Amino acid sequence: MTVNLFNTDGRILEPFKPIKDGNVGLYCCGPTVYNYAHIGNLRAFMFEDILRRTLEYAGYKVKHIMNITDVGHLTDDGDDGEDKMIKAAREKGMSVWDIAAFFTDAFIEDTNRLNILKPTMYSRATEHIEDMIKMIQKLEDRGYTYVAGGNVYFDSSRFPEYGKMALLDKQELQHGARVVVDQNKRGPQDFVLWFTMSKFEKQAMTWDSPWGKGYPGWHIECSAMSCKYLGSHFDIHCGGIDHIPVHHTNEIAQSEAANGEKWVNYWCHNEFLLMKTGKMSKSKGGFLTLQSLVEKGFDPLDFRYFLLGGHYRSQLVFTWESLESSASARKNLIQKIGSLKENTKPGSLERLGESAKSRLMDFNDHISSDLMTPRCLADLWGLLKDNNVTDEDKLAVAFKMDEVLGLKMNTYEVEDERSTISEEDQLLIDERAEAKKEKNYNRADEIRDIFNKRGYVLVDSPEGTYLRKK
Ligand SMILES: [Zn+2]
Repeated sequence: MTVNLFNTDGRILEPFKPIKDGNVGLYCCGPTVYNYAHIGNLRAFMFEDILRRTLEYAGYKVKHIMNITDVGHLTDDGDDGEDKMIKAAREKGMSVWDIAAFFTDAFIEDTNRLNILKPTMYSRATEHIEDMIKMIQKLEDRGYTYVAGGNVYFDSSRFPEYGKMALLDKQELQHGARVVVDQNKRGPQDFVLWFTMSKFEKQAMTWDSPWGKGYPGWHIECSAMSCKYLGSHFDIHCGGIDHIPVHHTNEIAQSEAANGEKWVNYWCHNEFLLMKTGKMSKSKGGFLTLQSLVEKGFDPLDFRYFLLGGHYRSQLVFTWESLESSASARKNLIQKIGSLKENTKPGSLERLGESAKSRLMDFNDHISSDLMTPRCLADLWGLLKDNNVTDEDKLAVAFKMDEVLGLKMNTYEVEDERSTISEEDQLLIDERAEAKKEKNYNRADEIRDIFNKRGYVLVDSPEGTYLRKK
């Protein structure tokens, strides 16, 4: 199966070709851990989960690295504003280290509840300061840096390709609305690699460096850690579209300047999850977390189902009504898969009937065409409703699709809605059992049909037969 992906670098849909046969190096910009992830943040990790599952489904071995930003992330994408970790620590009366540990755990818990696969490795920024210093030294040796006001800056004028992936219009940027507050910068696109002159009082996280005691700029962590674990040239880098103009642009500039070669082959970005009122924002407060959905009675997988209903490159608007309809669709799925499981076992994927095979091929086409998950959900329902597909095949194919969808279908059980059985019905049920024993399948089927017509399913379980409303 060839996986086609939309590459932000070049804005083109193209077949994925790995650098090393059968292997994928995948880097995803992880969370900043000064607060809970909001459901908009979680959309990015969900998209990356689908991408990774699809690559694995296509047979690749994926090395998936995600950073945890536990230092140096400022309240502005540039180098202005306040360090978010320090702000949160002050507000909550905790140390910055405790804040980072607490919200890292909360993030991992959220992703577990959404059935997002764990990365091969989480890399914490604070555990990789040495690697960042080494990369800044390399940039310094190659003449890409300058020191001003005590901080080390990346000199973007030395990197002519700056902003190529983001299609930044340099002229526009220079005269644009963004005000350059930092007087030490020679150019508006320059950015800090290492801070020593902290504008923030009581900076708790500082490290020794050749330029003095200080801490790294935000962008350098992703370059240093991805190169350490995936090499200086790897396959795929992901993140939200908001990272394109600054964070990813700066990551490319410093990585390619330091290593002197192309860094990443495919850039994949997801669109926002919006509220009716607009963009969700962590720093502005008032955002929804996964826990807030759970407290309203939703299962985290209802939210997963909801996200699958939108293509990752389209904006998706969150409303309680749409989450409600995802929850009810998932409830139907539980009943459907649960009742199939009660009555049969999954068949073999090698011996599928023609209809089942073509349903699975449609699904494969859709997921490998830039991860068209809304079409994939439709394929799943098409399969389950197809009278030409046997129950065994339905289960086998649904479980196969679930390797990508991640809805945990193999755990689904029909909710217990047993109906009380009248004496008359019990006689019929006993008669059916007797008929089956005598291999009188016609009579057994007739009795099943009688119940069927009345809107009941006969369920044979180890504790005997019971009735369930359809
Ligand atoms: Zn990053």
